[in-house]
Amino acid sequence: MNVDRTLNPQSYVSRKAGRIVKAEAILVAIPFQSDAKPVWNFTGGSKNTFDTMLVRIETENGFIGWGEAFSRTEDTALKSLIETRIFPLIVGEDAAAISKIKFKLEFGLQNFGRVGPIMYAISAVDIALWDIAGKAAGLSLVDLLGGSFAQDVNVYASLLRYDSPEGVAAATRQAIDRGYRFIKLHEVNYPEIAAACQAAEGQAAVMLDVNCPWSVAEALAMDARLADLDLLWLEEPVWPPENYRGLARIRAQKRHRIAAGENAGSLHDFVAMIDAGAIDIAQPDVAKTGGISELLKIATLCEANAVEFVPHCALFGPGMIATVHINASMRTVPLLERLYCDFEAELFGGATVPKDGKLAVPTGPGLGIDPDLNVVDRYRIE
Ligand SMILES: [Mg+2]
Repeated sequence: MNVDRTLNPQSYVSRKAGRIVKAEAILVAIPFQSDAKPVWNFTGGSKNTFDTMLVRIETENGFIGWGEAFSRTEDTALKSLIETRIFPLIVGEDAAAISKIKFKLEFGLQNFGRVGPIMYAISAVDIALWDIAGKAAGLSLVDLLGGSFAQDVNVYASLLRYDSPEGVAAATRQAIDRGYRFIKLHEVNYPEIAAACQAAEGQAAVMLDVNCPWSVAEALAMDARLADLDLLWLEEPVWPPENYRGLARIRAQKRHRIAAGENAGSLHDFVAMIDAGAIDIAQPDVAKTGGISELLKIATLCEANAVEFVPHCALFGPGMIATVHINASMRTVPLLERLYCDFEAELFGGATVPKDGKLAVPTGPGLGIDPDLNVVDRYRIE
């Protein structure tokens, strides 16, 4: 007898996530190939690696959720902080109580910082709990968020810093040859920026991210100098990142759309940015700014204030996959950022490597894809 399995009630039964019984921080550092250096190589070492700080949460009912905290240069201090400050507060909690756990962590740890490592750690827990929620419901994250506006998302190649006009122009041409139609530069000098824009002319839009190098006066001068390059946006032109009045001064010139937010800690930092008139484009990072829960709040704030929501993503692990789902759940389907480099090994077996400048939205339950444990074992830092 043929049984129509789509009508089998069992297939609609979801299981309870259950209580958290185990939490683990796993630091992976995978070498990459690039002719450039990361802007943020603060150890001065010669190794070119990017960290992925994985947080693995296991429940009594056998669900395993994966999260990611923003991390750089083998950040074992962050790993220790997650293990000693965060995990004791979550083991034993009901994994389905995402908002309650997030509040417990934020309220309990408020004295240790509202921006920075503590928030990176809380972000990772939030992502892992959403992964579990999706797996327990039998729904992909994007479906849990209300459904998808796209099967795949457009990716922008976020170039590292080349510090030479020839180097950045060559990388721009290579990224275009690989199918990217949006390129972001991390250069700070006019000759490099102009060379890349020339290389991209007519083929790709160019954004410029300078990572907060200038005083307001310096930024105003550069804002004028760059005006003829037709940049899609100018990101973090002034020091320090929370100098929202300074950003507003640059934005008031109306020469560039101003993007910022990767150094913010929560919704309320975006309220302050918007109140100051500092930004056209909000860039919260899911592994820095409070996870999926916080990004959804920030997206709503942006919609209500006519500010564009384009998450920052300098991540390669579950945080990047969470960002794909979040972007696909938005009607505007924001561009996905991916740092432009080729890894020695892929944490997700190539599923997060863009093809023709696009990345498919995973369809499996939760984040839809788990890290390759062989790669984790090979590049794990203790
Ligand atoms: Mg940036």
